[in-house]
Amino acid sequence: MRGNGAILLRASAAGETIRAMAAITTDVVEEARRRHGTYPTATAALGRALTAGLLLGATTKDDERLSIELVGNGPLRRVMVTTNGDGCVRGYVSRPATHLPSKNGKLDVAGAIGDGLLCVMRTQPWNKEPYRSVMKLVSGEIAEDIAHYLVTSEQMPSATALGVFVNGDGLVGAAGGFLVQALHGAAPELTELVERNVAALPHVTSLIRSGAGPEDILAAVLSGLDVRRIGEAPVRFACSCTRERVLGALLLLGVEEIEDMIRNDGKAEVRCEFCAETYTIDASELTMLIRDAEGSA
Ligand SMILES: [Zn+2]
Repeated sequence: MRGNGAILLRASAAGETIRAMAAITTDVVEEARRRHGTYPTATAALGRALTAGLLLGATTKDDERLSIELVGNGPLRRVMVTTNGDGCVRGYVSRPATHLPSKNGKLDVAGAIGDGLLCVMRTQPWNKEPYRSVMKLVSGEIAEDIAHYLVTSEQMPSATALGVFVNGDGLVGAAGGFLVQALHGAAPELTELVERNVAALPHVTSLIRSGAGPEDILAAVLSGLDVRRIGEAPVRFACSCTRERVLGALLLLGVEEIEDMIRNDGKAEVRCEFCAETYTIDASELTMLIRDAEGSA
């Protein structure tokens, strides 16, 4: 599976008035599941959000950072995903041990999230203020919520599908999705054709499980249009946390707090919430950190 289990394809159609991307994210979602130990419903929610992040991230400009956050009154509480648009994505859920009985044969993501809000934030290095958009969840299934966001907040008619199939053993069997957008000047009859194509598609994980790659998915979504392939790139779960950043964060707690850690535990253990990596900083390193802080104070 390696290699084709994590890839994103971008294309345009109808003379650049329609843009589309499709991603197979099976390996990305499995990596997230493994790191966070998510149960199936939580895996599906996190996997859909990670896939949405990668698809939306493919529409961002260089160096733009995108985050998608869903907060609800369901047992999962919160899903958080960030991406830089470079094919790397990271994310977590508040309660990874969330699992609900399936609904209509599907993992009940909407039930796990409940009623709540979707927040999409785009941080652009050339703008001081991030662009932040908050809206009520329309379904909690994530794909519909993202499409609703794109239509209302970015004024971009969009259709998206996101899917995660979890095997009986709890591992991720298939994950992926697509996003198709009508840009300015798109002919109504062509966007209607895309809508009909999308409506006629089987569930996206059924396609992936039957062996479809991103090009097959886009061929089906854009069937009947002249399609221009823009490019394909690998995607992966990757976090920006480093030991240096962890030490920097510890320093912000203050010298007294660090001295307490040395006295009480003989070390500090810091877990990155985005990727679940645990950093252990031993007493000698903590002592050095205090010395550096006092030296520079
Ligand atoms: Zn991390």
